[in-house]
Amino acid sequence: MEIKTFHGGVHPAEHKELSKESPLTPLLPKGELVYMTNQHIGKPASPVVKKGDHVLAGQLIAEAGGFVSANIVSSVSGTVKAVEPRKNASGGSAMAIVVENDGEYTLAEGVGVESDTANLSNQELLAKIQKAGIVGMGGAGFPTHVKLTVKAPEKIDYVIANGAECEPYITCDDQLMRTRSAEIVEGLEYMLRLFPNARGVVVIENNKPEAIAAMEKACQGHDRVYVQPVLTKYPQGGERSLITVITQKHLKLGMLPADAGCVVDNVGTVYAIYRAVKFNEPLMERGFTVSGDAVRNPGNFWVKIGTSHQELVDACGGFEQEPKKVLSGGPMMGFAMTGLEAPICKNNNALTCLTVDEVEIAESEMTACLRCGRCSRACPLGLSPQLMQVAAIRKDYDRYEHKLYGLDCIGCGCCTYGCPAKRPLMQLFKTTKAEIMAMKKR
Ligand code: SF4
Ligand code: SF4
Repeated sequence: MEIKTFHGGVHPAEHKELSKESPLTPLLPKGELVYMTNQHIGKPASPVVKKGDHVLAGQLIAEAGGFVSANIVSSVSGTVKAVEPRKNASGGSAMAIVVENDGEYTLAEGVGVESDTANLSNQELLAKIQKAGIVGMGGAGFPTHVKLTVKAPEKIDYVIANGAECEPYITCDDQLMRTRSAEIVEGLEYMLRLFPNARGVVVIENNKPEAIAAMEKACQGHDRVYVQPVLTKYPQGGERSLITVITQKHLKLGMLPADAGCVVDNVGTVYAIYRAVKFNEPLMERGFTVSGDAVRNPGNFWVKIGTSHQELVDACGGFEQEPKKVLSGGPMMGFAMTGLEAPICKNNNALTCLTVDEVEIAESEMTACLRCGRCSRACPLGLSPQLMQVAAIRKDYDRYEHKLYGLDCIGCGCCTYGCPAKRPLMQLFKTTKAEIMAMKKR
């Protein structure tokens, strides 16, 4: 099949060899588990348990705070130790439920029990996904039932399962596709019931031949589902890049995927849909990569939501060298963590521990802008990072937002990566976006 790609983008060193052959090893947590009530986009969930309550794995512990929100369940059985503010991976504090694991992993009634899916109505299907608390697992954390509730389902042409995994170092989706391909296809089939005219397509970068082969085999006999290999180029896994590759349509700034006839979900999310619909299983576990040259034995894990990052580092044999920088996510879109005690949330897919802080080195070598235009050529959205940086530095927010469309920046880092003057463009754009959004809120 033809290998497709999109305009712009960059080719950072992949570093996937560190963990790509490591299977998704189940990790049973030893310590307490922490469930942040704001681990999704939308309103935080409201705790429905209190200190001293005994809970089972799969039991609801925090109820969605509205339609754009998500339920949260305990991923272990045990006792609620506290309902109190805790720090998340970015260092921010939010209300959390802390459960002392009893090591029994006793499931709540009905969880994991196979159900008859043949006669489910679309409403019942969506209700199962909503009840399971599924959110975008590629990083976004947007509640999946909201994404699947579109105004005109008959106008959706493609349900895209995002298996691009274009961030350097991260390989957990690769392993998921290699080992749970039939389940991902079944999850896609459930999603396709909601969209009568759509086809399901699994998009995979061509640096994952084993995943492509496994998914192609699983698609055999499923007329509405196929695999589309794409060129290995960052940020191929971005929603806009995927839509351009599959439909040849360019999402205009401000448009949603559904406006281009698409629904996009990460392959991990599709797998979670399969578990929820077929086995009444809420989102309790996920694939996770621990990598980077500071880690003794990098690898992939099947981890319970709420486990601390420290437990994962311990499972890798600790650090080979003291890390200079620890990132939640990968080096392109991840963010620096202040401590490893923070819990894994539904939308966290990786921990990258580096012995060299590339940003620090880049900033120490920064020179004036050379006006070479490389950043504009690299931007997958066709933005003008060179002009955006001038407006951002001058705090000309009106020009930044309305003339240069700076709020549409997805923070992919392609401009920073390609800049010969080592200008920290993406970091500047993230700060500027946060400042503008804060001003709007005020
Ligand atoms: S790539 Fe860097 S040096 Fe070149 S125009 Fe953009 S900001 Fe300036
Ligand atoms: S960080 Fe923003 S401006 Fe820079 S390349 Fe990505 S989308 Fe374009």
